[in-house]
Amino acid sequence: MKIGIVAIQGDFAAHAAMLQALGAETVEVRTVDNLKGCDGIVLPGGESTTQLQFLKEEGLFDAIREFSRRGGAVFGTCAGAILLATRVKNPNQESLGLLDMTVLRNGYGRQLASDVFFGDSRLKKDPLEMVFIRGPIIEEVGKGISVLARHEGKPALVEKGNVLAATFHPELTGDSTVHAHFLEMAAAHAGKGAR
Ligand code: GLN
Repeated sequence: MKIGIVAIQGDFAAHAAMLQALGAETVEVRTVDNLKGCDGIVLPGGESTTQLQFLKEEGLFDAIREFSRRGGAVFGTCAGAILLATRVKNPNQESLGLLDMTVLRNGYGRQLASDVFFGDSRLKKDPLEMVFIRGPIIEEVGKGISVLARHEGKPALVEKGNVLAATFHPELTGDSTVHAHFLEMAAAHAGKGAR
């Protein structure tokens, strides 16, 4: 399984380490060319406005949309989840629009600048560790979106088909459950996204 990790800023190295520990091959993505042969793409955390600008400048904005529309697996964490949403508020912002949901940037407020929580999820029996760093709130999800975990009653881990989004940072925990789930998703859609 080869996973491309958008490597503009943020914690892409933590995603790579976790995916490699699970047996995947990873590649840092900074150009459209880097996507060749990838079975999945990770959009890490960071600052979504900065990342959006970079993705557009490099042609990756359109390339990632195409990759997903062809059926390739895409996983966004925090700023990456913001980029995947169809509607972004606080302030309004353009996005890839690959997951039918409304997100409110920095929605949990300042007190949640950096905090660790444990909550129920549909991925495992034990509580799932969730690290929030100025994460968005998912205010609304469209039909057919599965909510795999919640925080303060709001969806925090959601998926539909080949797209997965977390408003927290599973790559910054010792728990690789969410990444293992993404690798299963990528395996189920292997070879579809890349040209
Ligand atoms: N607050 C950031 C944004 O709005 C996301 C924070 C993160 O990715 N940790 O883009």
